[in-house]
Amino acid sequence: MEDIIIQETPRAAKVVDRSDVVVVGGGPAGISAAVSAARNGASVTLLERYNHLGGLASGGMVLLLDDMHNDLEITVQGICMEMIERMEKMGLCVAPPERDRQPDVRETQQMWEKWSRWGVFDFHTHSMPHPVCYSAAFDPDGYKRAANAVIQESGVKLRLHSWFSSSIIEDGAIKGVVVESKEGRQAIMGDVVIDTTGDLDVAASAGARFQEGSFILTPVSRWGGVDTDKAERFQYEHVEEFAKLDHEAKRIIGGCWNYWWLKTPLPGVVWLNCPHIPKLDGLKVNDLTGVEFEGRRRMEELLDFARKNLPGFENAYVVDFAPQTGVRQTRLLEGEYVVTKDDVMTRRHFPDTVCRGRDYYTPYRAMVPKDIEQLLVAGRHYSATPQAQKSSREIPPCMAMGEAAGVAATVALNAGTSVRKADIRAIQKQMRAQGADPGDAPSTNASLQEAAE
Ligand SMILES: Cc1cc2nc3c(=O)[nH]c(=O)nc-3n(C[C@H](O)[C@H](O)[C@H](O)COP(=O)(O)OP(=O)(O)OC[C@H]3O[C@@H](n4cnc5c(N)ncnc54)[C@H](O)[C@@H]3O)c2cc1C
Repeated sequence: MEDIIIQETPRAAKVVDRSDVVVVGGGPAGISAAVSAARNGASVTLLERYNHLGGLASGGMVLLLDDMHNDLEITVQGICMEMIERMEKMGLCVAPPERDRQPDVRETQQMWEKWSRWGVFDFHTHSMPHPVCYSAAFDPDGYKRAANAVIQESGVKLRLHSWFSSSIIEDGAIKGVVVESKEGRQAIMGDVVIDTTGDLDVAASAGARFQEGSFILTPVSRWGGVDTDKAERFQYEHVEEFAKLDHEAKRIIGGCWNYWWLKTPLPGVVWLNCPHIPKLDGLKVNDLTGVEFEGRRRMEELLDFARKNLPGFENAYVVDFAPQTGVRQTRLLEGEYVVTKDDVMTRRHFPDTVCRGRDYYTPYRAMVPKDIEQLLVAGRHYSATPQAQKSSREIPPCMAMGEAAGVAATVALNAGTSVRKADIRAIQKQMRAQGADPGDAPSTNASLQEAAE
């Protein structure tokens, strides 16, 4: 269709709230940022477009917290670990115990058969069986409930159903944001704004530099009525027959990781991280619409095949498709430092490291835009090359980044400085004080060719 532009008349937005820190996007990074800032004494408003917290972890039904271990060490602690503990208390989170992760047992066939369908193995290793490692399989509503609890207990002012639309900028600094809501346009003002939308909506609207990344899109779903014991027995006792059927299932899916179904804490319910559909743009309305239809079409065909052919799946049925589309990568900030794939792979340590992922380190500069003052960015849209982001965007590292951003905002506010000038040592110290690992003390396997500041 030919480009026709309609000029809108200037519109007003009523100021409905004002806080020290405004966090936009209630996903894993946003929850951590908001809770962390509030626990450090700031007034905080958290804005979210949907009716729930958790982003891809709950609405996207991405049901595995991984990339949080470095061999036996658990590298992401803090608010992420607190969420895990809360979900464990609800019986809605499963993680392998320490004894199953020990070097003498973790790569045995016995452990593989026990844990691989939970997805809690180190898929970065080439050896088979992959070693069992610390990761946590959880329930999406458990994540929402745990998030509601930490947000309420920390006194964060939460505004759901608030779709960010534009940044309010004055003299090169962000002063607040405008959201669209059923009540019309609303403005929320803040001294610091943290963009945790995952798609860099706030920073892009504020004029920050970014690059366009992209990766596969996946409409995740869950099936119920699966006899997982029977399915697993068939896999290990009839290896060749299983391989043929699994191959056919993968042909129908047309793009998935090796283990296309994984167990969840709900008995008989599995999640399906597939199909992976390439060459679509997670910011384009037509692509986001089309992927829902193509995903359902393929998964219906797969369900039919599984019911007829896969032992354990005879009575399987669709529980639900994720209400939030599985978008892994769109805009990526070009901040004060852009993390490269080499940084991630060589575990480069930075003097301004404020949080960690699996075995890699995140410098504070990768959360700070070059051009806009008082704005921080945390989560999957942080300042990294597209290749680096693919290896460093899992939920736990995004939560760690959010936690660090919340700390940084309060460190800067308390010191009366801009977030760009926040005291790195103070951020690291506070992260440690609240039980998070700032990564300031590199592990023995970190690359100590520290990047220049
Ligand atoms: C299919 C798939 C499988 C994955 N598998 C795994 C896995 O197994 N393990 C793992 O750890 N990670 C996995 N990931 C990666 C992980 O889910 C994401 O990288 C992580 O959730 C990013 O967290 P985030 O908070 O940065 O962003 P998101 O989870 O995207 O959260 C962003 C939040 O901001 C809100 N938002 C966005 N725009 C606006 C707006 N304009 N106004 C208001 N609110 C807005 C969203 O609704 C959402 O709540 C997977 C991702 C996908 C898509």
